[in-house]
Amino acid sequence: MLGLSRLRRPLLAMTVLWSSAQVLGESTDMTMDDPRLARTVTERPFEVVIDRRACGTRGVYVQVLGAGADDLGDAQASSGYLVWVDGKARVLIDMGTGSALRFEESGADFKDLYAVGLSQLHVEHSADLPAFLQGAANIRRKEDLPLFGPAPGEKTLGLKTWTSRLLGPNGAYPHLADYFSPFSQGGFEVQQEEIESANRRPWRGFRRDGIALSAIATDHGQGTSLAWRVDVGEVGITFTGDTGNRRQTVKTLAEGSTIIVGHHAVPENVRGFARDEHMPPSQLAKIAEEANANLLILSHRTPRTRGRELQTRREIESVFKGAVLFANDMECWEP
Ligand SMILES: [Zn+2]
Repeated sequence: MLGLSRLRRPLLAMTVLWSSAQVLGESTDMTMDDPRLARTVTERPFEVVIDRRACGTRGVYVQVLGAGADDLGDAQASSGYLVWVDGKARVLIDMGTGSALRFEESGADFKDLYAVGLSQLHVEHSADLPAFLQGAANIRRKEDLPLFGPAPGEKTLGLKTWTSRLLGPNGAYPHLADYFSPFSQGGFEVQQEEIESANRRPWRGFRRDGIALSAIATDHGQGTSLAWRVDVGEVGITFTGDTGNRRQTVKTLAEGSTIIVGHHAVPENVRGFARDEHMPPSQLAKIAEEANANLLILSHRTPRTRGRELQTRREIESVFKGAVLFANDMECWEP
């Protein structure tokens, strides 16, 4: 029987105790006064195991932080990708919903990032920017952080208007506005740069320590998006982003890439508006084949494409001779 003193313990703590004991494989008939359980209460629930071995420590890797789109039922984060170079996460492409948590789980260090590129400003590509900046308050990053995103389009906001509405002094999170000032008290400034959303020629505006970033404007339904490319030595990784690719601009950026990370939101037989927003598998395959890539990673998976993997693989393999992978969160691939 439980004594009165034990009954005063919060119910939540008791639940945690029980489940922790289960996880630890310990007997559940220990009493609440057991010193091992006291330790469990104070330490165990806050222990986080981070597996830093997902990507190797030598060479170039692409890690999928978010393989999903905007679904609430797939247990996957939205768009987010890390490029690791010799054990450090140097470039982050997209900051979609859930990507900040996946970033933590990856073992990446926010201080190591050289640059961030956003493909577009829809929720599933950008919503975790406030979460990253909020978390950065505890990190003591000293170097400014370049943040690249789209310039205004006919029907879409540009990066600077978007950040100012969200994080400006009159925005939803005004306490984070300081990060956008050269006099930032947070230790670093987020240096924003908008990339033209209409150009047919690639932007090549960033290079550091042999890592080069480039981007090209793409069409995404009635709006626009950016495809991104990260080059490290001989390795080129192209991220198509969301695009129907009606203007055929992705091909220009992807030429000679080793890896294509393609957004696989629609199946082959898609028609109408959805086709204007996303490429079917055969188009992704064509881009990968023409680029002479080794690997096509299919990400940004949706309920429209899940469950059709066999069919999709057949369609892709009839066009593309390299390897095809269906992405899941946290997977890490090398060329
Ligand atoms: Zn999307």
